[in-house]
Amino acid sequence: MNWITNYVRPRINSIFSRREVPENLWTKCDDCGTMLFHRELSDNQNVCTSCGHHMSITPRARFKALFDGGIFSEVAVPEPMADPLQFRDQKKYPERMKAAQKSTGERDAMLVATGEIGRTPIVAAAQDFSFMGGSMGMYVGNAIIAAAEEAVKLKRPLVLFSAAGGARMQEGILSLMQMPRSTVAIQMLKEAGLPYIVVLTHPTTGGVTASYAMLGDVQIAEPGALICFAGPRVIEQTIREKLPEGFQRAEYLLDHGMLDRVTPRTKLREELITIIRMLTGQTPAVWGDLPAPEAAAATPTSAT
Ligand SMILES: [Zn+2]
Repeated sequence: MNWITNYVRPRINSIFSRREVPENLWTKCDDCGTMLFHRELSDNQNVCTSCGHHMSITPRARFKALFDGGIFSEVAVPEPMADPLQFRDQKKYPERMKAAQKSTGERDAMLVATGEIGRTPIVAAAQDFSFMGGSMGMYVGNAIIAAAEEAVKLKRPLVLFSAAGGARMQEGILSLMQMPRSTVAIQMLKEAGLPYIVVLTHPTTGGVTASYAMLGDVQIAEPGALICFAGPRVIEQTIREKLPEGFQRAEYLLDHGMLDRVTPRTKLREELITIIRMLTGQTPAVWGDLPAPEAAAATPTSAT
């Protein structure tokens, strides 16, 4: 690492490709206010190196850090009907979709992939909070069904990373229908005897918490994640009482029996490898013998 690779190259890249390198080379931590260099932050999976605050991470970046060698192949998700209610608020729904697709480079708020983690093949699905607040619409429902069907077909465990502001209001009742749809999809996994592990990330709320995000055989959360159905402000206004410190945060929910583990993002891969090996009846991992994640290999992702 020197001045040229750290400073000059990102600047040149930003002229040619806007999406790859953030315009601003520094990000301020929302929690402690430390200015973090973009490379240092992405190397640490968007976790503040100063205070450990977990910032949001895209599904693609997460999968690169999760799978062996950062290699995964995407699972195709059936396209739902576009704008079934012809919904319009300040903007038309298709316009909002287009803007979100342009800014994230993704089709919708969930990415499904297959790959190996510590040499155990799995299916993984991750929700994208940067895509319209990770909201659950028909596409997310289709993605969960595609993920569950792929897991059943290949007889693999499913790991799901949730992050959502709830259901997608632009799809009205159709978004709420994804709650029973995804619940049935998860039931398919249970009937096939396959492990379903949920990693709850900040924030997981609304209809997502009320369906597939709470149905895991093992429920893990990232530190500090807000996990709730109705948020603390709504509850406070309704019951007119001050809520306890840390209410509905991961650590509070762990203390109150809602979660099994709270695991920092940088330790998640190891933890998932251990749990998956346990649930699939394999011997404990020998760490030196397992492939490294993306950091060392820096392999580009493959797409189908
Ligand atoms: Zn910080």
